[in-house]
Amino acid sequence: MEIRALTDAVRSELPVSGEELNLDAKGWGLVIVDIVNGFATVGAGNLAPPAENPQVTQMVAESDRLARGFADQGWPILAFLDTHEPGKLEPPYPPHCEAGTGEEELVPALKWLEAAPQATLVRKDCINGFVGAIGASGENAVVDWANANEIENLLVVGICTDICVMDFVLTMLSARNHGLTQRCEEIYVYDDGCATYDLPKTVASSLGLPETASHPQDLTHHMGLYFMAARGARIANTVEIA
Ligand SMILES: [Zn+2]
Repeated sequence: MEIRALTDAVRSELPVSGEELNLDAKGWGLVIVDIVNGFATVGAGNLAPPAENPQVTQMVAESDRLARGFADQGWPILAFLDTHEPGKLEPPYPPHCEAGTGEEELVPALKWLEAAPQATLVRKDCINGFVGAIGASGENAVVDWANANEIENLLVVGICTDICVMDFVLTMLSARNHGLTQRCEEIYVYDDGCATYDLPKTVASSLGLPETASHPQDLTHHMGLYFMAARGARIANTVEIA
């Protein structure tokens, strides 16, 4: 089956309905997952897009729009930055986002967050930001941030929809249900604020990669949204900040 037809069939059998979100009260927290050069700037590394990619471009623009809206309101923002000790691999991936290469820094459009008082930057060395936020004494930077800011609803954007975004959101749902977050009620994922990468099966096999490296972009993006929604996350199709 041709990939577009397959993707349409999966969308039909595993439907995901999104909502129109209007953020008009405090209690919201924005989590930006890994919108760093190594994942989202063309040609910036082994896991960066090799050419301009519309889904990635849209994610960066929409994340910047929301972050500016949150900053204007004085609402809290937490940004994860995938960052690895040089030479220390993160299987199954090739070297990426090693400290000092620039790949581990926010993309140019989001660089302003470094100086934004509303933003908390959290570096992590594994896929799952919730795990990466655990410190040496067992404290968790995400849980502490959510509780200190009395966050009631989380809005999540970033890359990759089906990898770092999904692992974080699924774990955060468990953390909420386990009572680790004091006030968190809902976790929203913004469709157009997320992106994943494109590695068609034919390309993966021509590169000699394992079969699980096959990763068609639209299909895996949808599957990520589906699994998050099926576990209790809410999906947003549009987000406006009043
Ligand atoms: Zn990594």
